Amino acid sequence: MKKLAVLGSTGSIGQSTLEVVRQNPDNFSVFALAAYSKVEIIFQQCLEFKPTYVVLIEPQAASELTQMLTLANSVTQVLVGASELDQLVAVAEIDVVVAAIVGGAGLSSTLAAARAGKTILLANKEALVMSGQIFIDQVKQNNAKLLPVDSEHNAIFQSLPLDYQTDYLQQQITDFGVHSIILTGSGGPFLNTPLTELATKTPAQACKHPNWSMGQKISVDSATMMNKGLELIEACWLFGVEPDFIEVLIHPQSVIHSMVRYIDGSIMAQLGAPDMKTPIAHCLGFPERIYSGSEHFDFVKAGQFEFQAPDFNRFPNLKLAQIAFKAGQEMTTVLNAANEIHVEAFLNNQIKFTQIAELNQTVMEKLQPNKATDLASIFAIDQEARAVATAGVAR
Ligand code: NAD
Ligand code: MG
Repeated sequence: MKKLAVLGSTGSIGQSTLEVVRQNPDNFSVFALAAYSKVEIIFQQCLEFKPTYVVLIEPQAASELTQMLTLANSVTQVLVGASELDQLVAVAEIDVVVAAIVGGAGLSSTLAAARAGKTILLANKEALVMSGQIFIDQVKQNNAKLLPVDSEHNAIFQSLPLDYQTDYLQQQITDFGVHSIILTGSGGPFLNTPLTELATKTPAQACKHPNWSMGQKISVDSATMMNKGLELIEACWLFGVEPDFIEVLIHPQSVIHSMVRYIDGSIMAQLGAPDMKTPIAHCLGFPERIYSGSEHFDFVKAGQFEFQAPDFNRFPNLKLAQIAFKAGQEMTTVLNAANEIHVEAFLNNQIKFTQIAELNQTVMEKLQPNKATDLASIFAIDQEARAVATAGVAR
């Protein structure tokens, strides 16, 4: 019986994780849940999964939850705030930390899990995008285990040999006959929208992803392909490669979740229905297979698979990600921070869809961050980029 901490339990990944747990009641128990503020959802989760602890970041929500749990005679104890969360993930009872808090807010607790040597199921992208070197170093130094939940990285991982998988952070991918990685992406809801119409697209249209049902931030990132840019950066850190080792390929059906090319011409791919329960179940069960509750994919019903190369005019964010990675960890922090501010501004109808990438580029051009060797300097760069981006939006 593995004991889990599900961070970001009220979100899309958090809820999918709990669905997989529900399928496997004899293998997993929930020791802790954490989220920002959604009291009603997390209250129900507490009643169902009976965690020992629940953390809410927002104090008013935490006191409401405390009252509700007391009235319901629940034994779950409520903790409040980010530093209590960082302490909680390190406790000995927890085996597996599911890092599914969205954005830079998830960084600190994910690093705390690495320092405590936990098995980390990594959904949060920012730990690698903002602090790739620091995070990977912490994982290695503390013998933590890192398993990628993000569907593409999970697919790449599954397409690599078991010898590599069991100790991959210590291995050279090229020692296993790997030629390159093919990172697939759907191209999002605006893949075929005339370029001249992109500026008029609304948040509701951007959030309507053709294949995946996800949180708002990542849905907008899929529409701009910033998500693929962040994933390129993630993949470089996870598999120890440079961006030119990774070919980004648009595959609108999102059935092939990513692939690995070998030197003999073979290509290994992981396929399945676009349902995050599959990569989550893979990571929870690894190296064994467990039920996910996901529907099996039907090739005959699905029809054709299509592929195309990404167009940087349509998806300038993808180019920005490549440039930022080459400039270093500090510039990927800048890009990520600027993008969070601009996506938020777009969702609030303050800027147009096309301005997300334009303003991301402006912020990258304005800042020349110093080399960061610790988290405090990373957060300082993050804050500066956010301030510059916020001022840009106000103009
Ligand atoms: P979501 O918006 O649905 O959920 C986010 C969760 O984070 C919620 O539980 C929320 O309460 C919590 N949260 C937000 N701010 C917080 C804060 N300051 N402190 C603590 N908790 C906070 O997001 P999601 O779609 O589930 O994505 C979660 C992460 O997984 C993101 O980093 C995303 O990029 C990544 N991811 C998601 C998917 C997907 O299909 N949804 C796929 C791959 C990777
Ligand atoms: Mg992904």
